[in-house]
Amino acid sequence: MYDLLIIGGGPAALSCAMTARKRGMGCAVIASDDGSGWLAKSDRLDNYPGMPHVSGKELLRVFREQAEELGANFIHGMARQLQQIPGEWMVLVGNDVLEARAVVLAMGAARPKLLPGEDEMLGTGVSWCGTCDGMFYRGKEVGVISAWHDGVEEAQFLAGLASHVDYYTLAAHDLPQDERIELVSGRVQELKREADGKRIAIVTDQGSRAYDGVFVFRPTVAPDKLIPGIALDGPFIAVDRRMATSLPLLYACGDCAGKPLQVAKAVGEGNIAAISASEDLAKQA
Ligand SMILES: Cc1cc2nc3c(=O)[nH]c(=O)nc-3n(C[C@H](O)[C@H](O)[C@H](O)COP(=O)(O)OP(=O)(O)OC[C@H]3O[C@@H](n4cnc5c(N)ncnc54)[C@H](O)[C@@H]3O)c2cc1C
Repeated sequence: MYDLLIIGGGPAALSCAMTARKRGMGCAVIASDDGSGWLAKSDRLDNYPGMPHVSGKELLRVFREQAEELGANFIHGMARQLQQIPGEWMVLVGNDVLEARAVVLAMGAARPKLLPGEDEMLGTGVSWCGTCDGMFYRGKEVGVISAWHDGVEEAQFLAGLASHVDYYTLAAHDLPQDERIELVSGRVQELKREADGKRIAIVTDQGSRAYDGVFVFRPTVAPDKLIPGIALDGPFIAVDRRMATSLPLLYACGDCAGKPLQVAKAVGEGNIAAISASEDLAKQA
């Protein structure tokens, strides 16, 4: 079990990992991308102290190298679900469950825009997790809608269970080359329950097809979907000055914890979150 799991791969997460290691915590950073996050889109930052005119990519590279040197572990994948049981947090990452005594959320501010119908049917025919729900669709027809490459792996997993898998894209990525998976063209517009009350249609600008189950994969998930019950402040996670959230041993930092959306603020908050987690874990011990 880790002392600390840090979710996100941007400046807040990397700063948090550095301080966590300096405080002697065993920690891992769970990042859904490897240096290609939001900051990587910036060609030049002029207001990060000590590194004038640095590109976002370079800044992330240096941060990550420093965190690795200090002994932080890195896990590539997306945290899909968090659950607290007495004494620990369990984090579902891809198809694995990781355990930690404390968790820091550093997921940035990007909010996935859900498809019409998606939220309402989540858990009743629509799923975001092949591992969790794939078994329900053994021998049945499944539609996969994906905004990134992880959807390919998920579709292949589902193809081992389902009688048929169709694959739709929400954003450009390498598509599955697998004869068990049919690529469907057209822009996905909405999800609609069929008149039988069971099957769900994926509606595109070129037509519609119905499935027993629909799986949607994106590189990020909204905080209140990741951790049902967490207190929000508008679109952001509510935190106090110690970066503590409304739930015990759960902290948030960087863009996901509110404005201003700036690297220097993200880095400072990552530092505070690590120190707060370390203090609270020490008190518990
Ligand atoms: C074009 C552009 C220019 C900018 N210029 C500046 C500037 O000049 N100065 C400045 O200070 N700021 C600038 N910013 C803002 C700056 O990039 C952000 O404030 C900063 O990156 C926030 O860091 P963060 O770690 O909180 O989040 P992010 O950098 O957004 O990192 C979050 C990471 O978490 C990952 N993630 C999300 N959900 C999950 C999940 N469930 N599981 C695993 N990983 C997940 C994401 O893939 C992402 O990599 C700019 C931003 C952009 C887009």
